[in-house]
Amino acid sequence: MNAPAPSETLRELLQGQGPLLFLTGAGVSAESGLATFRGPGGHWEGRNPMELATPEAFASDPLTVWRFYAWRREQAAAAAPNPAHLAIASFQRAREDAALVTQNVDGLHERAGSRRVVRLHGSLWRLRCMRDGEETDDTRADLGPLPPRCACGALLRPGVVWFGEPLPEDALAEATSAARAARVVVVAGTSSLVYPAAGLPRIASDAGAFVVEVNPEPTPLSDLADERIEGPAGVVLPRLVEAAGIPTGRTA
Ligand SMILES: [Zn+2]
Repeated sequence: MNAPAPSETLRELLQGQGPLLFLTGAGVSAESGLATFRGPGGHWEGRNPMELATPEAFASDPLTVWRFYAWRREQAAAAAPNPAHLAIASFQRAREDAALVTQNVDGLHERAGSRRVVRLHGSLWRLRCMRDGEETDDTRADLGPLPPRCACGALLRPGVVWFGEPLPEDALAEATSAARAARVVVVAGTSSLVYPAAGLPRIASDAGAFVVEVNPEPTPLSDLADERIEGPAGVVLPRLVEAAGIPTGRTA
């Protein structure tokens, strides 16, 4: 698939000094075949995930909510990181000052080799005790009988942010400071519609960053962006790696 080349300005910025920030959303996961659940057809067993991914749904029917999340874990486990994930991991390997903030919960950035992932919406691979709020990593393919329970006997919930819930404060603070510090921000695969994550490019832009939007479609961010590269992240981001003069190559 074709996509325009990065501009000379962007090329020079990427080859220069100064912190980079990648901000990724559902479109990047969609390129690995994972459903986005927004827009038409984003359903599971005929149900709208926006009615399942809420604290109210979990309180009234934890089993159904957990069946949805068990299915999502299966889908995520079966998916593979795509060239967009790998490109960001290459940036992070090459440069200590390349930050990554994602709205995705599937763990594909981590599996591509990214360290330092700021997860605004949590992770499918973390479970939280409903009694004390403690979170643990859990990457088992099979969680056993649903809904899963903590050793203390309380229900466990997915460690993700549901509709109507605030973003984790520490992740949001880290994302905001990365946005303020960034010299270049690359926003990939997000419609930039959901606040407060949608405010990050604006914060970066106000602080003087060069904002690049990578998306096959225009979004509400397009007017703010200094440069728009129309195309899938999996095509465009590897070109940015090349433009930055970073050696490619992946680690498992
Ligand atoms: Zn517990």
